[in-house]
Amino acid sequence: METTLILLKPDTVERGLIGQVLTRLEQKWLKINGLKMMEMTPELVSEHYDFLADKPFFPKIMSYMTRTPIVAIAVSGANAIATVRMLTGATNPQEALPGSIRGDFGLTIDGNIIHASDSAETAEVELKRFFGGKDIYEYARGFDDVL
Ligand code: GDP
Repeated sequence: METTLILLKPDTVERGLIGQVLTRLEQKWLKINGLKMMEMTPELVSEHYDFLADKPFFPKIMSYMTRTPIVAIAVSGANAIATVRMLTGATNPQEALPGSIRGDFGLTIDGNIIHASDSAETAEVELKRFFGGKDIYEYARGFDDVL
């Protein structure tokens, strides 16, 4: 069983899409273990997107991710990391397939709705970054043993 980190980005909060994106995750039988609204500080954005710091569009990412609160979610399930990336779709919503979250809700790369960890190593680091070992809850569901 894997746990992964999802961020519902500012456009998702602003557009009132939190519920619709959460529904996609729940419909897939993924388990929500942690859920919180928070503001990303410039320091947190710099840390999270460190690998993009030298890109010309980094200032755009900085103002995007700090303009409105985000929702951080810890989600678990069988193969959750790859499964959530599949639900999320390609980075650019114009290339994301219909049926994916970015494909259905996004229009441009400047507002691509959601972040999802891309590997087990990243998920571990990112869950610590956003939850710091707190506010993640383990619980059983009636059907967990068949998943
Ligand atoms: P992801 O794992 O699919 O989110 O993609 P990346 O790790 O490559 O990029 C991280 C985030 O940086 C993306 O989700 C976008 O929000 C942003 N980003 C990446 N490329 C661009 C770009 O060309 N322009 C802008 N404005 N943002 C970008």
